[in-house]
Amino acid sequence: MKVVLPDSSELELPDGATGLDAARAIGPKLAEQAVLVRSNGTVRDLRQPLDDGQQIQILTTRDKDDPDALYVLRHSAAHLLAEAARRVYPGTKVAIGPPIENGFYYDFEFPKAVGEEALERLEEEIRRELAEGREWERWEVERDEAKRYFEQEGEPYKVELVDTAEGSISFYKQGDFVDLCRGPHLQDSKPIKAVKLLSLAGAYWRGDETKPQLTRVYGTAFYDPKDLEAYLHRLEEAKRRDHRRLSKELGLVDFSELAPGMPFWHPRGMVIWNVLEDLRRRENAKRGYVEVRTPQLYDSDLWRTSGHWDKFRENMFTLEVEGREYGLKPMNCPGHCLLFAQAPHSYRELPLRLAEAGNLHRNELSGTLHGLLRVRHFVQDDAHIYCTPEQVEDEVLGCLDYAFYLYELLGLDVSAELSTRPENRLGTDEEWDQAEAALAAALDRQGLAYRIGQGEGIFYGPKIDMHMSDSLGRSWQISTIQLDFQMPARFGLRYQGDDNAEHTPVMIHRALLGSLERFIGIYLEHTGGDLPLVLAPEQVRVLPVSDRFRAEAESLADDLRVHGFRASVDERDETLGRRIRDAELYKIPYVVFWGERESLESLAVRKRGGDQLTVSWETLLSELQAAAKV
Ligand SMILES: [Zn+2]
Ligand SMILES: [Zn+2]
Repeated sequence: MKVVLPDSSELELPDGATGLDAARAIGPKLAEQAVLVRSNGTVRDLRQPLDDGQQIQILTTRDKDDPDALYVLRHSAAHLLAEAARRVYPGTKVAIGPPIENGFYYDFEFPKAVGEEALERLEEEIRRELAEGREWERWEVERDEAKRYFEQEGEPYKVELVDTAEGSISFYKQGDFVDLCRGPHLQDSKPIKAVKLLSLAGAYWRGDETKPQLTRVYGTAFYDPKDLEAYLHRLEEAKRRDHRRLSKELGLVDFSELAPGMPFWHPRGMVIWNVLEDLRRRENAKRGYVEVRTPQLYDSDLWRTSGHWDKFRENMFTLEVEGREYGLKPMNCPGHCLLFAQAPHSYRELPLRLAEAGNLHRNELSGTLHGLLRVRHFVQDDAHIYCTPEQVEDEVLGCLDYAFYLYELLGLDVSAELSTRPENRLGTDEEWDQAEAALAAALDRQGLAYRIGQGEGIFYGPKIDMHMSDSLGRSWQISTIQLDFQMPARFGLRYQGDDNAEHTPVMIHRALLGSLERFIGIYLEHTGGDLPLVLAPEQVRVLPVSDRFRAEAESLADDLRVHGFRASVDERDETLGRRIRDAELYKIPYVVFWGERESLESLAVRKRGGDQLTVSWETLLSELQAAAKV
């Protein structure tokens, strides 16, 4: 038999050869470092036989950042954890232990409840296992034999897993621990250079709350200790920047148990909101959008026409009034289609760009709510553009230009992705060809490099998504520009063409910052709360150095306000040191002092995170004006 290597060369192997045999045939070094076989996007254990003609790639310890290579390492680390748990806490029953994004976990039923100290004890035992060294052995067993084995070991969860396992059953063994497992696993434990157990949590067996509660131990592992260090550092940073903490500390947003997933915007938070809202209004007007306002609540007939009743009902809040069924809008589009249909249209009016920052409700599961990032009540900087097929490219280009104007203003690093026709779709191939070409042409004209998400478009049309990468290297989807041929047809929308015939317009859904709630949450984490002057709720705080200077401090702040800045005076009877510290806690960009030595020619100014400087009033003002420009 033969297999095909990544450089397209062919490798002759004896029949039944495994991935490890292939690695050996290439070179002893490769065989030693090999961790996994990858073939057309699927992974396979090195110990398993290859197929004739198969394309293979052998991953090694040098692929230390490859998600599949990390996956096999972390899965192997999870088995070490299970071995450790059984030894450190005799009588422990083991359940499941998969690798997950950024790490792994294992669920156990400990003989007695354990606390945080277990993490240290288990980790120490894993380190001992690593020092001793472990090798993984793999073999297949008959179902009955597998059951007998786990019954005899006193492992009821594994017995249950054998019962429900599909296909052939394989065992993996390292040390004295045997696990029911599909693999793949490392050859041995040498590549595991760093393991860290991170936390404990309760988890019901099979996620079912009527079943026993187990203890889930979370951990992570890497090929390089430096990568673990960097990861732990990122975790710390993420905690420090958690927008839920920041929005409380900075007095922006709060929540109540009485309105789960629905933010309360405090005055400071509202300042940020309104800056974004003003920006949206001004740019919309400049760019030929018109503003509309449509209802919150619609008869279920509307949602049947739009298709939401079929596809999205579980995510909607519904209610009954006078025997009629209603749903709160989760999106603005169906309402905009009704509005469009309320008047006849000629091609001369197109494109028609309808903007509405409407209140939207989505019934997200309470367990998935997460501060501002996942809410039940939100507002998007939403708009729908109705246009002719010929106008699509220019309209999409206009959206891209608008989006990048905002990114630049807010200092965001953004990349684009074009999602093309999915397998399940409505519309003809011809329509899709045309639509995808129009989106690609707009991206090219905007001069954007973009990824292609093959088959990731929505059933009603292709789309462009924009992803922002934040200061911790995390990626967030923020903008979306979606073509839709279906909704205008479902609502029977028409315009009169220059041929005097009736045509169906194309609809473009676009939201550029997305939900403002979510955007502000992301932006807080991105900046760590150090908002740029434009968005800072309080831009300048004036501190009179003592009582005697209150009046002058007030008039300085007044002057700043006259110039359009958000300025205040901290005239509390606290010490100056205390008042400086408070201004720092609120992350106020500029603190200006006023006392004996200060004058308009020489002001003492402290910039956020910087030293104290002496500048003139003129200089300060022009610096503020430049920084606050939108
Ligand atoms: Zn496993
Ligand atoms: Zn829409």
